[in-house]
Amino acid sequence: MIVMKFGGTSVQNTEMIDNAISIAENQLERAPLLVSSAMGKTTDKLVSISEAAVTGNSKLAFSIFEEIKAGHFFTINTFLSGDNLRFATERAEKLFEELSSLTKGLTLLRECSPRSTDAILSFGELLSTTIITARARERGIETILLDSRKLIKTDDNFTSATPLMDKTGELIRGAVFPTSGKLYVAQGFIATNLNGATTTLGRGGSDYSATIYGASLRAEEVQIWTDVDGIMTTDPRIIPEARTIPIISYDEAAELAFFGAKVVHPSTIVPAIDREIPVLVKNTNNPDGEYTTIAPSSGKTGLKAISIKKNITLIEIKTGRMVNAYGFLARIFSVFEKYQTSVDIVTTSEVSVSMTIENQSNLKEIVADLNLLGKVSVEQDKSIVCLVGQDLWQDSVVIARIFKIMEGLPIRMISLGASRINLTLVVPESHCEESLKKLHAGFFN
Ligand code: ADP
Ligand code: ASP
Ligand code: MG
Repeated sequence: MIVMKFGGTSVQNTEMIDNAISIAENQLERAPLLVSSAMGKTTDKLVSISEAAVTGNSKLAFSIFEEIKAGHFFTINTFLSGDNLRFATERAEKLFEELSSLTKGLTLLRECSPRSTDAILSFGELLSTTIITARARERGIETILLDSRKLIKTDDNFTSATPLMDKTGELIRGAVFPTSGKLYVAQGFIATNLNGATTTLGRGGSDYSATIYGASLRAEEVQIWTDVDGIMTTDPRIIPEARTIPIISYDEAAELAFFGAKVVHPSTIVPAIDREIPVLVKNTNNPDGEYTTIAPSSGKTGLKAISIKKNITLIEIKTGRMVNAYGFLARIFSVFEKYQTSVDIVTTSEVSVSMTIENQSNLKEIVADLNLLGKVSVEQDKSIVCLVGQDLWQDSVVIARIFKIMEGLPIRMISLGASRINLTLVVPESHCEESLKKLHAGFFN
């Protein structure tokens, strides 16, 4: 069997949905399970509803609600008829009633906890998969709609939950029986915790859902269908000359995703690793074009791609107490653990430690606690430029070239060798894109 995941732009309107269904139909004999994101920018709009609810702005919340509703019903009424139209209309009406009650309740309370946010965000995928199922049936394909909330179980970490793979695998294998000629459809992104409350896997999490289904069903392949020709040497939106990388290793892809390449969710690879399931990244608008295979090994060393991550905060803590002391780093990291903030890059010297964080929601509290350990300084508006490639750390020629290209550009922090496959630079945000352009031109043009 295979899993094929379609992202928001790949199912944003009737033409794109038909295109996605055709891609699945062409592979029907491979027993596909189609995982879909919400249509277009629906999830962003649902986020806006939750934000409007917190401020009690009922008018705004309901105007966005009406916009989402009109868009989905337009799609339903455009290409469905008879039983399929009835099925989609009834389900969508029910979903919009639930979303309306939820929006009303939260606007009154002026509240939107992470738990309520997940409940609101789940409607995008529930709607899109309803429509896709109805349309596939309309086209004569035997289609079964699954409910990922009943099949994927996670911990309680709302808005960024982690799947409980053993339980999830049992549930999926008990409900899904991939068969040649039949299409299964499931929601990406959404799941439930052990108490049945809706959780989500984090923004962009449908990729992760695809490999969760893939690993649970021992898929021969997972296909991620998106709006670019696979994983490229950098984000083609910033650098149009970016080129497709034909083959990239699990480690390299994970590193790129973690450091800003939005093309796949950072956790996508995790479920694929154990069973060495190949993950293909392909373009819905160019199905026969170039694409990327993410595999256990790429078989090639050297620089493969560059990613950037903006809005990074750098925290430096200086103290004489570190000299010959043990347990000091542990005390620093316990502060970050307390405020559930992950540290991306760390460098240390005998008297200071520099760290970068992305999540600034508890910055004030973190700084207050760290002040008890030493003198703290905070620098904002930094960016990470991450260069990824197998055994990059050993290649002094490449390393020298990187710094030659960066000549004259300010570098605030460097990390090399931590994972053997990346060199990470922290630069001021104002120099981020210039650094990326120069490095990309230097290596790939
Ligand atoms: P989807 O909705 O299909 O999940 P996303 O918007 O999440 O799509 O991811 C695709 C986008 O990722 C591309 O449009 C591109 O701008 C961006 N991107 C960032 N880095 C890369 C990269 N190295 N290769 C390809 N795309 C990238
Ligand atoms: N719809 C969700 C989002 O926009 C999940 C996804 O697209 O992967 O984040
Ligand atoms: Mg995505």
